[in-house]
Amino acid sequence: MIRLTGKDEPGVIEALAEHIDRPFRARQIARWILHRGAQSFDEMTDLPRSLRESLSRTFVLDDPEIVQVVPSSDGSHKYLFRLSDGATIESVAIPDRGKMTLCLSSQTGCAVGCTFCVTGALGAGRNLEPHEIVGQYRAIIRRETHDQGPVNIVFMGMGEPLLNAGNLGSSLDALFETISPKRITVSTAGVIPGIRWLARLPRRPKLAVSLNAPDQALRETLMPIARRYPLVELMAELRRFPLERGRRITFEYVLIRGVNDSEKLARALVRLVRPIPSKINLIPLNSDPDFLPGFERPPDDVIDRFARVLRNAGRTVTVRWSKGHDVAAACGQLKGAHHAVR
Ligand code: SAH
Ligand code: SF4
Repeated sequence: MIRLTGKDEPGVIEALAEHIDRPFRARQIARWILHRGAQSFDEMTDLPRSLRESLSRTFVLDDPEIVQVVPSSDGSHKYLFRLSDGATIESVAIPDRGKMTLCLSSQTGCAVGCTFCVTGALGAGRNLEPHEIVGQYRAIIRRETHDQGPVNIVFMGMGEPLLNAGNLGSSLDALFETISPKRITVSTAGVIPGIRWLARLPRRPKLAVSLNAPDQALRETLMPIARRYPLVELMAELRRFPLERGRRITFEYVLIRGVNDSEKLARALVRLVRPIPSKINLIPLNSDPDFLPGFERPPDDVIDRFARVLRNAGRTVTVRWSKGHDVAAACGQLKGAHHAVR
């Protein structure tokens, strides 16, 4: 069987070419898959029945299976998916004033091993295939009712998207059929070759970089990958990153009590990011006593003070006050099945 989900329109049309004699039919089918999220040929009621039957003997339109949806009091939903090999991943749907943001996974675990991250504590997983990445979006959108406002996608779920650049690239091509590149954000721990790859894409999503510390020594203790891709080289790369008019790079900074939350470090952060058109997203740590013993979220007044230092220095700052915290739904603490259902 040949899978059509995860392909962009030219990919769908190419796969169908030998099986369809009229090209407009292939475009029609591509639209059913990419724009209307069709899961079967039966749904494609404007195709002749005989064609639907013959295609369904050769092609599949499957998505990862939803095994659990956990609602949160703030309206967000955490989705647990099972993949065909039994691996599990999580995604989060976060509705907000008519908009919908989906936090998607790119791998089944993460080899980067940041010390404050639950996905990192699970260790390396495998890369998700394009249909497994796009399938999270397709499956969630089918289930979520929202008032047809725009959908945003952030790759801030499980895994390091830029260590799965090939499949991420194919997935972006498919997603761009229905979502503008400016509504998609790829978040990276600072994989320099991946950032270079992103910089060369003809259609670029937005870039978010997880800094989490403003100096090399502290960053190494939190993010082992900093040894491989040092902060000076990372910042030099980001200064070269092509930005469309009005676009900025987002710097993410997980605030960890007593570790990286001092005013001195806030001032160092200001100096570090100043040369780059950017905004800073402060993420108070989502704690998990089982997986992240000893890591705590700072008290609110410490978070406020840190944000104030940045704002007073003219930086644009947002504080992510724990979206979906009560179901462990916030990005950065997704861990898949064995651990999620306790
Ligand atoms: N691997 C990519 C994307 C997935 S992690 C990256 O690191 O950017 C998405 C975000 O969640 C990152 O900014 C990361 O710093 C943050 N994060 C990780 N663990 C967290 C935790 N325990 N609490 C809050 N945010 C966390
Ligand atoms: Fe991987 Fe990102 Fe977690 Fe680091 S923060 S371990 S890169 S998922």
